[in-house]
Amino acid sequence: MDVIIVCHTEPGFVINKRIIFDKKDYKGVKDGVPNLVKLARKYGAKITFTVCPEVVDYFPKDTGQEVGLHIHPGWEEFERIGFKWRVGDMYLKEHCKQSSVSTAMQDHPYSEQFDMIKTGKEYIKSRLGIDPKVFVAGRGSLNDDTIKALVENGLTHDCSAISNKKLPYFDWSRLPRICMPYHPSSKDYQKKGDLPMLIVPASQTIFRRGIAPESIPIYGFSWFKVCFSEYYKQNVPLFHIFTHSPAMTDPYYLSVMETFLLFISKYDNINFKFAGEIKEYPGANFKTKLLPYLFNPNKEIVKKILRKLFNQVK
Ligand SMILES: [Zn+2]
Repeated sequence: MDVIIVCHTEPGFVINKRIIFDKKDYKGVKDGVPNLVKLARKYGAKITFTVCPEVVDYFPKDTGQEVGLHIHPGWEEFERIGFKWRVGDMYLKEHCKQSSVSTAMQDHPYSEQFDMIKTGKEYIKSRLGIDPKVFVAGRGSLNDDTIKALVENGLTHDCSAISNKKLPYFDWSRLPRICMPYHPSSKDYQKKGDLPMLIVPASQTIFRRGIAPESIPIYGFSWFKVCFSEYYKQNVPLFHIFTHSPAMTDPYYLSVMETFLLFISKYDNINFKFAGEIKEYPGANFKTKLLPYLFNPNKEIVKKILRKLFNQVK
């Protein structure tokens, strides 16, 4: 089984296990990246850092890891647990024409998407000396125009897909939950076609929970183990983990990532790879194995229910 780890590299910090993507704090890049590189080296893992152009100058040189491109278009305010911050790339805001403040790539016309991808890619190349081939769209949002612009700019892998899910700012609803990399069609990015680009969806548990350290407070470590075993036992050829660089500044999330790596490295025939090394696998259909999830109840959810009941009794 191939295992890839894709780290969305952006500003921010963690408070109470929540990431605040605040541009006032670049610790998420300056500290988060070296922390993850150190952990990867310990377990022989490989990391694909998809880097926002606005943080390129904080990205450490010569990490020995893969560098890709991560784009958050637009300029909108977000709020979480009393903190407010802006989503949108400051570098691209200054250097590209954007007719909308929407932070969803799908809301921007082709010419503007093309310009953002080209500008971001060239900036990474000029500052880090690496030509990015892997892309992640901010908020998982893209459309057929994005894929076309990526192909035109020579990017070869997209790691944005959140399979089987649709929200107002993205649509990946037609991909199966366990979805292997595929070449998309130029007319429909959710259909197989012959474009010279591979869409590499993230792995997920049932109920569409992503395999990320940031999801562990929601579904608990037992479901990570169940999900990995579910993939491994039916010879799914790829397991795709993602994270955000600010999470890698937090001792809790670092220990979760270490637990992931320790757990995975005990299995035979594991090949850690960069996302850009992934090729299409021979076709196969994989099934959801529901029972193991149910026999490994999510401790965090059970705790929440008990707490609620307890408060009602009080
Ligand atoms: Zn992001």
